Amino acid sequence: MNYLKDKQYYINRYDLLTIKECLKVVEIFRDIYQTGLNNKELKDVPKNDKYSDTTKIMYWMLWMTQAQEYKLKKERINEWMEADRIKQEKYDNAIEPQNTHCPSCKAEMQATNTKHLEDYSDQPMRVMFLFRCSKCKKQEWVYGDRKIRVSKPDLCPKCGKEIKVKHTKKGQVITWVRKCNSCGHSEKEVDNFEKRNQEYLQREQEDKKLLENYRTDFCLTDKVGEKYLFELEAMEYAQQIQKEARQKYNNSAYAQVSKIKRLTIVNLEKLLTDILEKAHYTKLSFSSPEIGQFIFAPFTLQDADTSRRSNISISTLEKLLKTTLVNINWRLTDSIDYRLGFLSGRLKGYEREEDLLRLYEKKKEPQKPLDPEKRMKYSASNWVRFAELRGEQEGIEAVRKRRLEKEPDGFFLDAEAYHNCGICYEGHYGNEIWWNLDGIRCADCWINIKAGVIPSLKKHLFDNEDEWIANSQLKSKYNIHLSTVKKLRREGLLHGRDLKRSNGSIYETIYLVSENQEFLKKYPRIKEEINSSIFTLDLTGHAVQIGKVPSEL
Ligand SMILES: [Zn+2]
Ligand SMILES: [Zn+2]
Ligand SMILES: [Zn+2]
Repeated sequence: MNYLKDKQYYINRYDLLTIKECLKVVEIFRDIYQTGLNNKELKDVPKNDKYSDTTKIMYWMLWMTQAQEYKLKKERINEWMEADRIKQEKYDNAIEPQNTHCPSCKAEMQATNTKHLEDYSDQPMRVMFLFRCSKCKKQEWVYGDRKIRVSKPDLCPKCGKEIKVKHTKKGQVITWVRKCNSCGHSEKEVDNFEKRNQEYLQREQEDKKLLENYRTDFCLTDKVGEKYLFELEAMEYAQQIQKEARQKYNNSAYAQVSKIKRLTIVNLEKLLTDILEKAHYTKLSFSSPEIGQFIFAPFTLQDADTSRRSNISISTLEKLLKTTLVNINWRLTDSIDYRLGFLSGRLKGYEREEDLLRLYEKKKEPQKPLDPEKRMKYSASNWVRFAELRGEQEGIEAVRKRRLEKEPDGFFLDAEAYHNCGICYEGHYGNEIWWNLDGIRCADCWINIKAGVIPSLKKHLFDNEDEWIANSQLKSKYNIHLSTVKKLRREGLLHGRDLKRSNGSIYETIYLVSENQEFLKKYPRIKEEINSSIFTLDLTGHAVQIGKVPSEL
């Protein structure tokens, strides 16, 4: 008996499973596409779009399936071969028992050279040998330890008593008849060996065809497989990176600064007076400040608690100031001086965002970094780079949203980053970009929104045409030239809202869709040619063209 086959047998077996998995994916998406074609809710989506969208996701799923299948291939094949090798060794090395006697007549039995491996899932494997009694000719299966196999009696499915089994053979057909003497129940089973064999050969033929047709498409070579695996692992790693980047931003100076209260000297004085007086420090007063990049405010006060010694008085005040100022834009600088119950010192005021950031950056706690070896390995992967950016973006977004609690209208961003205004598209550094949940706007556009020239538009340029239309879009999307625009506005068909800078010059005009229904009816948007190419993502997450849409799928 051959349990262990050559390696190709196992490769075929595994590849077949892979092919069937992949075909399942194709089948699922074919169904989705078909259902989508007849879906009433999607009746406005062009067929090409349905096809290309479904195909994109299908290729993506196929990619994942292929990578997952490849990942387990070697391991699974080794497991199968190992299991069969164990069987083979057990079978080959089993030693025939000596001196076995017939259980009926006690005569010695002769080996017949037939052996069989018994392999039940709930018992250890055993090899048994077929022996024949030299005297009464009865045959028995005998295990290596000379124990004779006791066949379990067939039981009647109706009454549970022992049932009699008879079989008759006619050519390739064996008929089994089971008859119960107790209750009279009987059943017949026809085993057509030839038919079974044909079915087996047919299945084998089908499998062979599947392998021929799809192996190169669905089963990855080592070279491609390793590349897929790298990307798969990079993707898994990318999730960690994204989380880390988000977290980093959340713990960052930026997040701390967003919580800071910015107090003027008057507010500060009021806050400190209340707190200090409770601790018996009185008559807080600030003398004239030194104003430069920072503001230094010298102060004096008196210790009303005459029993306090100078060092205790100083340290108590220091501690009090430190805890009070922790979330405020003022810090104690220099040491506090104590003379005859007078205490004096200087507070430093931070005004600019970047100075506050620096103040907190120093204290930033080092995070436990992710495995540096993995970081090296996957750093080039687009998944990882993209995830890192996304994580940072999410972190920044979360911090900004928290800051909105204090400044619900929004705020200017950090100076470092460069952004384009979502309305006029002019580029500015962050300190000239206003942020709130509606989007990012340059200072000028924000002034126009605040002045009510335009509503707080929700849509950004390039994604805006169901809410508003920009001047430049009138030409590119509606083919209306500047002279015509002027004419239409004069005639009152086109309603524009002019955005002005502080010097009065008009820098952009916004046409609200809600105000221009009549105009849009007369001047509909130019129809663009539908791109019928199908794109999918390649290994590195880039879109690649995989072909034109056939007229019928
Ligand atoms: Zn016998
Ligand atoms: Zn019965
Ligand atoms: Zn703008």
